Amino acid sequence: MIKKRDIYQVEITATASSGDGICRIDNLAVFVEGACEGDILEIEITNVKSSYANAKILRIINPSIHRIKPPCAVYEKCGGCQLMHVDYKKQLELKKQFVADSLERIGHLDLSETEFFDTLGMETPERYRNKMVFPIGKKADGRLTGGFYAAKSHNIIALSDCLLGNKFASDCLAAVISYMKENRVSAYDETTHKGLVRRLFVRTGLYSREAMAVISINGKSLPNEKKLVDKLLNLDSGELNLSSIIININDSKNNLVLGAQNRTLFGKSYISDTLCGLEFEISPNSFYQVNPLQTEKLYNTAIDFAELSGSQTVLDLYCGIGTISLCAAKKSARVIGVEIVEQAIKNAKENAARNRIKNAEFYTGSAEDISQKLLNEGLAPDIIFIDPPRKGSDEVTLNAILNMAPEKIVYVSCNPATLARDLVHLTSNGYALKKVQPVDMFPNTVHVETITLLQKRNT
Ligand code: SAH
Repeated sequence: MIKKRDIYQVEITATASSGDGICRIDNLAVFVEGACEGDILEIEITNVKSSYANAKILRIINPSIHRIKPPCAVYEKCGGCQLMHVDYKKQLELKKQFVADSLERIGHLDLSETEFFDTLGMETPERYRNKMVFPIGKKADGRLTGGFYAAKSHNIIALSDCLLGNKFASDCLAAVISYMKENRVSAYDETTHKGLVRRLFVRTGLYSREAMAVISINGKSLPNEKKLVDKLLNLDSGELNLSSIIININDSKNNLVLGAQNRTLFGKSYISDTLCGLEFEISPNSFYQVNPLQTEKLYNTAIDFAELSGSQTVLDLYCGIGTISLCAAKKSARVIGVEIVEQAIKNAKENAARNRIKNAEFYTGSAEDISQKLLNEGLAPDIIFIDPPRKGSDEVTLNAILNMAPEKIVYVSCNPATLARDLVHLTSNGYALKKVQPVDMFPNTVHVETITLLQKRNT
């Protein structure tokens, strides 16, 4: 029987959706952190459960052909990336596998009628993020620090430059910490709910080159706010233009990145960016995809799947600032977007006006409430796009969709597990799963975005 502290020599034969390598010992699946499929390793068992075990690497005896040296100095400690030790081609294969495993093993979905495409990857999978969120806190010795959370914990790993984001975001972090030191500003402590500065959030527009820095605080204001503004504006921002500095008031005990209220310290209350030829304004609290190059591929594919001809009515549930809705509007008769965050709907309406799009309407509210309301009003869209957050959609919304009986449903998902669950509901109620396209929005992490096309069956 396998037990804790046992040492084995193993070959890694598979990869879990967490990024851990998997080997089998006595028919038990053993998850090995940091392992790569094809590695021959010496491992030590760290934990044994009835159906699986965990282990750590003691020695790499023979590295996999897919193993590479991670370019980041804090990769092993930081919880941000899980696949940086795996070559990019293999990462893309793994992501397709993660989606297939979810659909087949969680959903038990029959994929025999489904076209299942290879993961759409990036040409240069580096510095792709347009948004960085850095928690700020205290080290054990009381000194201020900021960076990323370590894996499975809220210990902050300090960093000087995250390779997923732009260098300017990391420079802003250093400037905020230096301002805090000089002005004796405290960092927020999650356990005591005391202290002021919680996080720095930096968002940039890939094409507009505008940048926004949001300082989230457990209070209403900061001491010497002008000094903070000056420090940030004095940074060398390269080709970026820091056009918005915002204080976000977040005095709740929850762990949401931002509170609901903002106060503009400098410049505008939003930044703009261009996607698929349209211009968008983006407020701090509005969702905006983090990888703009891949987002264009994501939206173009979703819209291709919908086969819009210009005469259809389109419903876009969970529409954010209206990106999918407005990209679809050019090829539709009428588009209706639904989103729960009020600021995002305000952006969506401005974005329609800014791009002179007149056939788009937007409603604030939960997908659950508004989809039922629209159904009761007799709305019968030809196409429904649905792009929910990680927890997926819900039965009320899915039933409203089924009752509206669109010809096609294009489901965009950032979580294969909830996607599988929701697809079971839709495919058990008259829809066939025709296409599955994984898209790599988050290179070096285990996250994968998936676009699926469901077509109404002829009954
Ligand atoms: N389609 C958009 C946004 C996708 S992210 C884009 O590509 O940018 C998911 C969105 O769902 C977020 O904007 C989030 O605020 C919103 N949301 C979360 N729960 C919701 C609910 N119950 N009803 C409607 N929208 C919701």
